[in-house]
Amino acid sequence: MKKLLSVLLAAGMVFSVTACGASSESTASTETNTAEAASAETASTETASGEFTTVTDGVLTMSTNAAFPPYEMTTDSGDFEGIDVEIAGAIADKLGLELQVDDMDFDAALLAVQQGKSDMVMAGVTVTDERKAVMNFTDSYANGIQSVIVLEDSDIASIDDMQGKLIGTQAGTTGYIYCSDTPENGGFGEDNVIAYDNGITAVQALMNGQVDCVVIDNAPAQEFVKANPGLKILDTEYANEDYAIGVNKDNTALLDAINGALAELKADGTVDSIVAKYINTDSGDAASSTAE
Ligand code: GLN
Repeated sequence: MKKLLSVLLAAGMVFSVTACGASSESTASTETNTAEAASAETASTETASGEFTTVTDGVLTMSTNAAFPPYEMTTDSGDFEGIDVEIAGAIADKLGLELQVDDMDFDAALLAVQQGKSDMVMAGVTVTDERKAVMNFTDSYANGIQSVIVLEDSDIASIDDMQGKLIGTQAGTTGYIYCSDTPENGGFGEDNVIAYDNGITAVQALMNGQVDCVVIDNAPAQEFVKANPGLKILDTEYANEDYAIGVNKDNTALLDAINGALAELKADGTVDSIVAKYINTDSGDAASSTAE
């Protein structure tokens, strides 16, 4: 992590935070489902990829934070949509399972998979060494680019200008972890960083003058800036992080099965077409790209 941050800083880059928003609106049924899932007997399924278990028989349970557009968000009618949701649906289809999306805070989504309450966490999750110690990651399916949002008339024009400023981030994300690290490690110090429950709240704090900038993954940053006049994304070099699906450390059979499905979905162009549906890469907006 520290090494990564140094690399990002050395390259004059930025980090990430998170985005959230409507998560609390759609958690009610989810919590019940998660509780049921946790108490359910572990079910096993036989597929071409071999035998694997899921927390609920016939169901692929995905924990996420559905306030991270365009990867996962909640529609007006309360459905879940986004790149992760569609890729997860395609994986579930391949494995003969029904997808269930459990919406919660980002750090809870990471915990759910570690505690065996969900089969996988898919939430624009950046692969880090610290997370690798507590969960398994599939092959990467996308690249996340880190960016800084400021007010249009901000005096912050570069990463260096962030020294001594108040930085908004989302709790539990790489953006918070990098920014709150010590200056020796390339961070800005804990006192200069505020962790919000979600990215939308962090962006609102920026617009209200409570923080000077927000560090967040570029794809949701683009969405937030589009939706809120008066904001801009720093025109600085961008850094790439790999997004992957987190799977419980003990469930390597499921990890293998998901990796098998993911490889097929990458090879036949499904992953690319899902990403293209949500991110316009032709506009020069390098919000994200599919991992090789
Ligand atoms: N990519 C960032 C991380 O993994 C943020 C993810 C998110 O907020 N959903 O920490």
